[in-house]
Amino acid sequence: MAKRKLRIVRDHPLLGICEYCNVQFSSGLMPIEAAKDDIQERFNVHKCKLTDSSQNALRIVREATENK
Ligand SMILES: [Zn+2]
Repeated sequence: MAKRKLRIVRDHPLLGICEYCNVQFSSGLMPIEAAKDDIQERFNVHKCKLTDSSQNALRIVREATENK
């Protein structure tokens, strides 16, 4: 099985995506550590659904970081 990785794309509210299948995880919990634990936990249990490519994920990351 391919490696998958949770990438944090935004800190507030916390938004992370699975780099493998492009599923997004967000959490508004405070403090930020709780939100990170929250999405990490959901990332760990989610099942990757294969999409046509990872280009969408890359685009989302770019947009999220450019909007700072
Ligand atoms: Zn995934």
